[in-house]
Amino acid sequence: MIKAILLDIEGTTTPIDFVHKTLFPFAKARLDEFVAAHFGELRPEIEQLEIEYHRDFQNQIYGRAFNADAPESIANYLKFLIDVDRKSTPLKNIQGRIWQSGYESGTLASHLFPDVAPAFVRWAEQGRTVAIFSSGSVLAQKLIFKYSDAGDLSPFIANYFDTTTGAKKEPESYRRIARDLRTNASEILFISDVPAELDAAREAELQTVLSIREGNGIVRHPTHHDAVASFGDLGI
Ligand SMILES: [Mg+2]
Repeated sequence: MIKAILLDIEGTTTPIDFVHKTLFPFAKARLDEFVAAHFGELRPEIEQLEIEYHRDFQNQIYGRAFNADAPESIANYLKFLIDVDRKSTPLKNIQGRIWQSGYESGTLASHLFPDVAPAFVRWAEQGRTVAIFSSGSVLAQKLIFKYSDAGDLSPFIANYFDTTTGAKKEPESYRRIARDLRTNASEILFISDVPAELDAAREAELQTVLSIREGNGIVRHPTHHDAVASFGDLGI
């Protein structure tokens, strides 16, 4: 019995390319303007960035100056963090706010695989809960489902989990999610394109399915998880 479906985003509901070739460049191209326009509101993020900067400077990873009073200097450091694909909380917060303004103005719409929206409707009719677990911030996740090319799908989603719940390759994260969903772990199906995430979920006794989508990395090692290329093939 599957009472809840827990979904990864990148490579599962959404093409990896949308994140890397649309979302990230969109935020990067607007960083200078955004930081300059919202400088006064970004104090908490700038304080966090300064700590991160000092570590990078000491480790000789980033050699430029960091001036907490100069928007341009902050924007340069943020662009560096994007280039090295750093999972930085202040960076994620700022990117999320730039995407929000893009989605709200209609400049951005997220791409979902065509079988995602029909599956949400079907699962709602079947009384199953849908939740998301992604390394993107909860704000970024909500925006992806609210402003999608299939319309606003946010009414179908009960919960959003990001890495503040725990790492995606740690079984404990999935135990915590099961508790939050008030559902037995064995009655939750987790779908992801990353076998190590599925392994962690299985260790926490969730059911698992590997997502095979166009644009995903090749899964080189044989996995012990069922695999589907569409939510239409899940049998639920
Ligand atoms: Mg993924």
